[in-house]
Amino acid sequence: MNVNLWTEVNYLKGVGPQRAEALARRSIHTVEDLLYHLPFRYEDRVHFTPIAKIEPGSACTLQVEVADGSLLRYRGRRDAMYHLIVRDATGILYVKFFHGAYLDGRFRPGQRIVLHGKVEIDRYRPARLEMLNPEFETLGGAGGDSTEVGRIVPIYEAIGPLSPRVLRRLLHGALEAIGDAIPESLPAEIRERNGFPARGAALRAAHFPAPTENLDRLNQFQTPAQRRLIFEEFFLFQLGLALRRRREEAEPGIAFRVRDPKIREALKRVLPFKPTEAQKRVLAEIAGDMERPTPMNRLLQGEVGSGKTIVALEAATIAIENGYQAALMAPTEILAVQHFLGARRVLGRAGYHVELLVSGMKPAARREAIENVGSGVAQLAVGTHALLEDPVAFHRLGLAIIDEQHRFGVLQRKRLREKGISPDVLVMTATPIPRTLALTLYGDLDLSVIDQMPPGRGPVSTFRRSEEELAGVWEFVRSQLRAARQAYVIYPVVEESRQELKAAIAQYERLSKYVFPEWRVGLLHGRLANEEKDRVMEEFRGGKRQLLVATTVVEVGVDVPNATVMVIEHAERFGLAQLHQLRGRIGRGSEKSYCILVAPREAGGEASERLETMVRTTNGAEIAETDLRLRGPGEFFGTAQHGAPALRVASLLRDHELLELARKEAFTLAGEESRAPQLERLLDSLDPNWQRRYELAKVG
Ligand code: ADP
Ligand code: MG
Repeated sequence: MNVNLWTEVNYLKGVGPQRAEALARRSIHTVEDLLYHLPFRYEDRVHFTPIAKIEPGSACTLQVEVADGSLLRYRGRRDAMYHLIVRDATGILYVKFFHGAYLDGRFRPGQRIVLHGKVEIDRYRPARLEMLNPEFETLGGAGGDSTEVGRIVPIYEAIGPLSPRVLRRLLHGALEAIGDAIPESLPAEIRERNGFPARGAALRAAHFPAPTENLDRLNQFQTPAQRRLIFEEFFLFQLGLALRRRREEAEPGIAFRVRDPKIREALKRVLPFKPTEAQKRVLAEIAGDMERPTPMNRLLQGEVGSGKTIVALEAATIAIENGYQAALMAPTEILAVQHFLGARRVLGRAGYHVELLVSGMKPAARREAIENVGSGVAQLAVGTHALLEDPVAFHRLGLAIIDEQHRFGVLQRKRLREKGISPDVLVMTATPIPRTLALTLYGDLDLSVIDQMPPGRGPVSTFRRSEEELAGVWEFVRSQLRAARQAYVIYPVVEESRQELKAAIAQYERLSKYVFPEWRVGLLHGRLANEEKDRVMEEFRGGKRQLLVATTVVEVGVDVPNATVMVIEHAERFGLAQLHQLRGRIGRGSEKSYCILVAPREAGGEASERLETMVRTTNGAEIAETDLRLRGPGEFFGTAQHGAPALRVASLLRDHELLELARKEAFTLAGEESRAPQLERLLDSLDPNWQRRYELAKVG
């Protein structure tokens, strides 16, 4: 049968139902999916290292013959070590596999195998070299066929029962079967401009490189073939974004009047202080967008406390002065209420009507709020996703502001936008995002960054302490409370699970009864009723409670400038982004603030690196980069639900230069009027897989 990219893998030779199922579990359904399962490493099996030439401390690839193998169990230990002795024409080598029980009976004397790993001097017999836990492959036939030796060999990550060797054969077979039936996916001029090979040639060379190819370059994913495939993945995604952007810009938006003495007056009235240079700059960017007749789609990024909200309220002022309504949507009720109070204070100075709409309201109040939004009496509506519900209809929505902190997806953004007729959209986020991620997550938005804090902020010092040192920590907290400051104690109740919550409540009781009996302690967690939450927050804000024991619900937006201490217990359980968000609750006043991370001394590895990063820096960008490196993009803020594409070939960590290039090429091309239809067709013609992954990019 004719094989093409859309052929299902089970039609390939060597793929039975079982293997097909294993592949399907890894989202490999079609030949195309399979071809984009690239090797993660390459081995030079043309030039094997002779045993006599091995240098201790270096990794090498050997082609050897099994001399002997045995499983050794040690008295008093449950695991066993597999010892293998191998030889070639130049000598013999000892190989050890820890936890090697599974290898018992695996090797036969005389068998030809390839070993790849690091060789070290035997600690107990310094005259001897040994290879520890190498990767190995048994060669088929008479010492291996053409896919496994005599060339640069691709090494795949195993997929279920499919070993690297089996995958290599499958891919070899698939490439043979498909022949030259691999259609091109990149415009010719882009390929020419960047020296990229054709798609088919690139796939071939990425799986089975020419013997002359440079091994280091291959292993760094830097060959033209690999670069082309990485570029392709970024480019098609960015092209989807660019075309969507084009369509949106074709919609008629609102051209707000901005340069008007009356509006300038109103802005002055609203702003109670001198804006920072950064605030001035981003407001000018926003006002510029609002003035243009195409809908604004802008992301406003800035550290917690950098003054985003006030800028957003200025944008709202412009909309209101033009006779439109504005909406401000927050991810939690606490934050919505806080925004509401702040907005009412600020916009009240200009006499505007601000309305609150959250689901926890009494029915009568809610009905009234909805009515005011519908009639246009409400000039700014602040709320949670309750704003998106069906009964809520705006009279004349002109500006939608979303304070999202990574909690709203593309879809909600779209729904809020649909509450008006092409209103301008401003998304605010306090989470510093590495640029590579911003380009994928928010690639369809223009970016404004507030990179400066308002004056008069006290510095924040961060320390790590162990649980044994808690008494000293509480003593320090007490000294701050005596100086009329306030403090947070944070517990890791991340999912509001019952058990974690119980621990937090127990600790609250302990702290309030025994540790801080002379102070008033509040408790805040996600399971409290809304009125209770509001009351606790209000009491803390007003200074009636000096200490607040809280779960991560305080993560978002809570603003109490007098709180100068934050103790985070079990800090090792929090992610970096979360720790940074939490710490952003302090250092909001002019006094010096302290963040104390309490974690077991033995908490090591990644947890330690997170804590050390927090101690070392308060720079959000640096923290975000570290977070991305530690967690990898997949985990980073749980990006999947936010419309980031699942990358198959590219890596946001490794390939940022190609991402920038792809973005530039895609947006330039899509910017040419005459090209758009042809490019839309290109995307539509691609395999359904691309489409599926673009679906997310197409909404919103
Ligand atoms: P964000 O939304 O970025 O967290 P906010 O807009 O809520 O920041 O501002 C944080 C605090 O700083 C608020 O109390 C606000 O009134 C104050 N603030 C903002 N901009 C300035 C400024 N330019 N000068 C002084 N204080 C400011
Ligand atoms: Mg804010």
